[in-house]
Amino acid sequence: MDAIEAVNWSAIPNPTGHGCDDPQRVAHALRLLTVSTTANQTGDAASLLAGSGFVCGHAAMVFPAAYAATPILLDLLEHGRRPRIKDAALALLSDALDCYPAAGHNRVDTAYGTGVPLCCAIARLLRGRSSALLTHGARGKRLLRDAELHWRLVLQQTEPQPDGTVTAIAALEGTPPHTPTEAELHTPRTDKPTTPTLRIDTDEPTTPTLRIDTLSTDTSAAAWVRLTHTPSPPPPGSALHPAECGLREH
Ligand SMILES: [Zn+2]
Repeated sequence: MDAIEAVNWSAIPNPTGHGCDDPQRVAHALRLLTVSTTANQTGDAASLLAGSGFVCGHAAMVFPAAYAATPILLDLLEHGRRPRIKDAALALLSDALDCYPAAGHNRVDTAYGTGVPLCCAIARLLRGRSSALLTHGARGKRLLRDAELHWRLVLQQTEPQPDGTVTAIAALEGTPPHTPTEAELHTPRTDKPTTPTLRIDTDEPTTPTLRIDTLSTDTSAAAWVRLTHTPSPPPPGSALHPAECGLREH
């Protein structure tokens, strides 16, 4: 419950503007799910979340509030009072990763970067709780495997080559992508502190993309990559996300 109250739900945008999709209602439904004691109560609370504000199953749409709700659902998955609550949390988390965001609301600001694709931000929270997912049988394993597809590379050392390409040593999270592949470039911002708030404006310039030509990894999640089509050699600390994730929206 404390985790629900810690979120500033009123600061989260509502893409549809409909009262039923108000993030405050997501908080309300999460409270109902947490304290539900009967199958009906759990089912009703889960239906509220699956029908509006968190995801809209009917429209296959995921809302920005889903990013704030994900850690709370992961807590319920791990520590929920009843197996039904844990099952409902797992199903909702799976919906959040599968659905597409509303147009213009497909990015969130996180503690580690601004304008992160919503799917990748949710997937990173899921990967951070892999042990909780792995205790939930085939469905938990499948969700973790899906979350691994939203890979993230953080460049640690970069070296421009005479042929115009850039080679880099990077830390890989998730499943290595097949190459060549297009990636979004997120350079570290040193001009202002990054705070874990949710993105409200949608008028940011398009995130630059580059191509990962080759990628090899070892068992320690270190990766060696060759980059082409870079606007300029990306500085160490830059993060790469799948370019296709940044295009996911209705
Ligand atoms: Zn993604």
